[in-house]
Amino acid sequence: MAKKDQNADQDTKGITVKKTEDMPEWYTQVCLKAELADYSPIKGCMVIRPNGFALWQAIVDQFNAYLKEDKVQNAYFPLFIPESFFKREAEHAEGFTPEVAWVQNKDDKGERFAIRPTSETIMYDSYGKWIRSWRDLPLRINQWCNIVRWEVQDVKLFLRSREFLWQEGHCVYETDKECHEETLHYLERYRQISEDLLAIPVTLGLKTEREKFAGAIRTYSIESLMPDGKALQMGTSHDLSQGFAKSFEISFQDKEGKHARPWQNSWGISTRMIGAIVLTHGDDKGLIIPPRAALNKVAIVPIIFEDKKDMIIKETEKVGELLSEFNPIVDTRGDYTSGWKFNEYELKGIPLRVEVGPKDIEKKQAVVVRRDTGKKEFIPLDKLKQHITDTLEAMHKNLYDTAKKRIDADIVTVKDFKAFEKAIEDKKMVFTAHCGEDDCELCIKEKTAATSRCIPFKGGEPGSETCVHCDKPAKYKLYFARAY
Ligand SMILES: [Zn+2]
Repeated sequence: MAKKDQNADQDTKGITVKKTEDMPEWYTQVCLKAELADYSPIKGCMVIRPNGFALWQAIVDQFNAYLKEDKVQNAYFPLFIPESFFKREAEHAEGFTPEVAWVQNKDDKGERFAIRPTSETIMYDSYGKWIRSWRDLPLRINQWCNIVRWEVQDVKLFLRSREFLWQEGHCVYETDKECHEETLHYLERYRQISEDLLAIPVTLGLKTEREKFAGAIRTYSIESLMPDGKALQMGTSHDLSQGFAKSFEISFQDKEGKHARPWQNSWGISTRMIGAIVLTHGDDKGLIIPPRAALNKVAIVPIIFEDKKDMIIKETEKVGELLSEFNPIVDTRGDYTSGWKFNEYELKGIPLRVEVGPKDIEKKQAVVVRRDTGKKEFIPLDKLKQHITDTLEAMHKNLYDTAKKRIDADIVTVKDFKAFEKAIEDKKMVFTAHCGEDDCELCIKEKTAATSRCIPFKGGEPGSETCVHCDKPAKYKLYFARAY
């Protein structure tokens, strides 16, 4: 292929809509053209391509490091759940039944199987057999797996699909106190993944009774706000108390030799987080990968002049060796122009680009270009490694700060329902007081399509305010928004 043709190819390959003008179309183009994901012939499902999987792998690796610190072990349980297991915890069964896919084939006893929409029941059946004494506790197990929630029809890449990948942690404790403390600890781990790895600011809080997990006594979540004004629940941690332990007959002999019921929690994050990366950080040129989560932190592109080609490629390869700790892409391909390559790595969101041209070689320097700001700097080779380390950290901070500033500006505090409705219409997240009654919350949802997000740990006290919708005394203050 001639170079000219490839440049034409890029015109159709680049993002053709602006993020602010048509965000759903922009989002889809970024996912497809940065080769994160593709549509699948199976309705409601998606294909995660290597670039998308590399983002998931960064999350998996960091979270596995946390799990190790927290003494949580990885394990694997079956994809299929017997119908009888599923129905043992009434609230749980009721909450999940509409979403479950059933296998047509039945087992020897004529029982049919669900494809897991979440694994509490199948795991706790095993826990009932394994846990005998206080010495078996705490039991902390995590599994990385796929999940199926059948009701999804229209796939929204990473954000909504019938099948997705996640981790689900399931722990068992001797005491309520320990259980509750660790439920919050895993939520903090999710904050670390979101903010410290992915540079996505989140609010930590408690879900309302209406929005909590089916079978939990309390659900905590981390919530973020996307640039289209929709909230995204980034992770949840559920205090299950003793409900499942009763249904699945999990018990242990305590230190006094008495028969006791343990306490449980479960918690999860999913490939949804990749959608949040795209929406939060991407721009009109495409994806921006938060540097700490980037597999290739740098793309090195030679500026090739035919008469000095061999020398330039050799020097570029040397720069590649110098920067090996950043796992650079060293793109010395001769059949693509440097301009084409610049566009390619911008589209794919590689955090930094290093250019090596004949003049740079002469001056013993390289050109470093940031993906987030586009800032271009000439850096002496002996300072290049340190400069890249510093710039990647500065980029993480800038991405986080930029997102935080946008989110703060998109949160509106309201005291009356007219202002509430207007703010939701204006694609804002609302912070307001609420009576805490289920019917009132449902009514708000029916009128505005906004759902409650969370009662924040900081600032959720009601004071003397009244409910934004029904004027009864407020029980708490919380966030509402339309959501993914
Ligand atoms: Zn109310």
